[in-house]
Amino acid sequence: MYILENVSKKYHRRNKEIFALEDINLEIEDGDFLIIKGESGSGKSTLLALLAGIQEASLGKVFLDGNDFSSLSENDIAKLLKNQISYIPQGYSLLPNLSILDNIRLVKDIKNENQEKTQKNNRNNKINNNLANNEVKEIIRILKELKISDLIRSYPEELSGGEQKRVAIARALLQDTNIILADEPTSDLDKESANIIWSIFEKANQEGKTVIVVTHQEKLNTKNKRILVLEDGKIKKEEMPE
Ligand code: ADP
Ligand code: MG
Repeated sequence: MYILENVSKKYHRRNKEIFALEDINLEIEDGDFLIIKGESGSGKSTLLALLAGIQEASLGKVFLDGNDFSSLSENDIAKLLKNQISYIPQGYSLLPNLSILDNIRLVKDIKNENQEKTQKNNRNNKINNNLANNEVKEIIRILKELKISDLIRSYPEELSGGEQKRVAIARALLQDTNIILADEPTSDLDKESANIIWSIFEKANQEGKTVIVVTHQEKLNTKNKRILVLEDGKIKKEEMPE
């Protein structure tokens, strides 16, 4: 569960202070599906980055399960982003010199670091190969769902913006965390791909995951979703699910 208490985030630009967020109070329960809307520059990405722990509040506090983000070390935050929070940023997040498969395996490898170590020491290669095969099968399954399985050996520069976005989403889903944070995940996508992404998020939420999505999309299926509208860094409106 997230609790935000009087959270503000200010930036300095040419000696001027800009409040990207101002005095935000918010609680997000486990299993919530929260949509964050608002015009460009209203503070949506900043709010999501604070929830991911990759930005720090200038004033106020952000708690996750009772832990104050400002008291966590960089190492603690890195662990959170590995085991508890999948964060899909707004821009491009794939490493250019790794194939799509290796980009995705990055999170799996990091997550299974200990398992890998034992694998390396394990002389039974057959077991290792089976483990690796199962992992690749799971990756292919989700890439198929997102209609990008033929790109598995390609490199990010060979993919369109929408395809790269889907790879980042596949990677986040394979990370299998309880919290998914996605910043405009469907913005470069055609309608069909966008629908697939939404249905995957719905499924994840039905499985009990907390899903928080920043979106511009007007026509949304808002069933069971909380909607938060930001304006100039403040909460303008909040709608609870029926
Ligand atoms: P949104 O995602 O809703 O478009 P952002 O959270 O990206 O909005 O930005 C909110 C405000 O904070 C904007 O006015 C933006 O220009 C400003 N801002 C965001 N990041 C920075 C930064 N690193 N330095 C200075 N100003 C920033
Ligand atoms: Mg943004």
